[in-house]
Amino acid sequence: MKVTFLGGAGEYGRSCFLLQFEKQTILIDAGVMKSGMTTDETYPMLTEAIVKKIDAVFITHAHEDHVAALPMLAKLGYKGNIYATTETINQAIQTIEKWTDFQKQTQQVVPYERHHINDLRFVTITKDSRKTWNPSREIDNLDYMFGMSGHTVGSVWYVFRFQSKHVFFSGDYSYESDLLMIEEPPNLSIDLAILDGAYADSTHSQADNLHTIRTTVQKAMQQKTTVIFQGPLSGKTQDLMKFIGEAFKKEVAVRLVVDQELMNHTNVLMGNTEWLRPESAENMKRVLSDFRVTNVDQWIEIPDPFIGFCSEEQIITWLNQQHHTPVTVITTGPKQKEIIALSQKLDSVSYQQVRYKVHPSLYESKQMIKKLHPQITVFTHGLNKQIKAMRKAIDNVTKIKLMNTGDTITVPSFEHNIRKNNQCN
Ligand SMILES: [Zn+2]
Ligand SMILES: [Zn+2]
Repeated sequence: MKVTFLGGAGEYGRSCFLLQFEKQTILIDAGVMKSGMTTDETYPMLTEAIVKKIDAVFITHAHEDHVAALPMLAKLGYKGNIYATTETINQAIQTIEKWTDFQKQTQQVVPYERHHINDLRFVTITKDSRKTWNPSREIDNLDYMFGMSGHTVGSVWYVFRFQSKHVFFSGDYSYESDLLMIEEPPNLSIDLAILDGAYADSTHSQADNLHTIRTTVQKAMQQKTTVIFQGPLSGKTQDLMKFIGEAFKKEVAVRLVVDQELMNHTNVLMGNTEWLRPESAENMKRVLSDFRVTNVDQWIEIPDPFIGFCSEEQIITWLNQQHHTPVTVITTGPKQKEIIALSQKLDSVSYQQVRYKVHPSLYESKQMIKKLHPQITVFTHGLNKQIKAMRKAIDNVTKIKLMNTGDTITVPSFEHNIRKNNQCN
């Protein structure tokens, strides 16, 4: 058994992992890298020869860095099943369409045609079969298990069991979402764990992050500057809406605004009660009633200052049409090059990147490793210099291997070997 990293190892984005058994192969996620400068950098290292070998695809969650390259699979000839939770399937189709539209609007090359989106064959893994072994339909002697990963509605981790070996893929996960539940994987002896290392070296707690966010907004409000939070349509953006709503509800002068599209996604999230922490969901309902819901193109009519929430695509539309009143744009994920470019062009726009964790910090990685006891751990979704920085803190519990996109690691882990991608075909 071996894992080849077709994207997402030693880098942030385009998560895509090939898990090969004796004769058969599955793929876990097929995402894009938003910050990629070329088509090769943006999309995973999928080729026709690799795709031909894939018997089934499993998706952890619907963010674009995990699903937006799926049409490329169809273009390269994949006709098999793509397994995910219902919630992930519903969001994934929208994520892919949005990504495609945005790429076309901004004259980027996409390595597939639009009709390939319709060719994708999604199959539901039902919520009821969580945390139990499910036999694979396609792969002989393969069982898999999944559970909620606390990252977004529908997001899951997977354990694959083949000939009594266990490989764990965390997907993106967090123990510290305010709204979303996480289910810990059961006690198993994991041979290889592929973990989310996006914030691997960070020792910041969510409370530290929230303190920074609160003071940033407070300062802006004192200076009569509008604040816009830009984030994904589902997941941490709702956590932040709840936090800001609760933090500023006593300040009567503060107007809270949410874009209609984001609100639609928020309503979907709130309807998926099984994925939510019950008490937080109740509080969120109260907070949402304080928000004014209106399309980004109508925001021009809202008196300044206000606190708005919308998606990345929409913030650019709004920044381009707004009448140069001061505004601070806050992003809580990786740097957004389009917004930075606009903030450099327009004097009235400032850009601030603050952290809100939807990925584990060092202490959460330790918690997960304590649970899994993996022989070998590979941290993905981040730069290897970050992984190196935290290696000492963990290396005595599990062996941490640094991987780059293109590398292959073999299970059993005692006899690991690393080969370059061009040899793995
Ligand atoms: Zn994600
Ligand atoms: Zn991700």
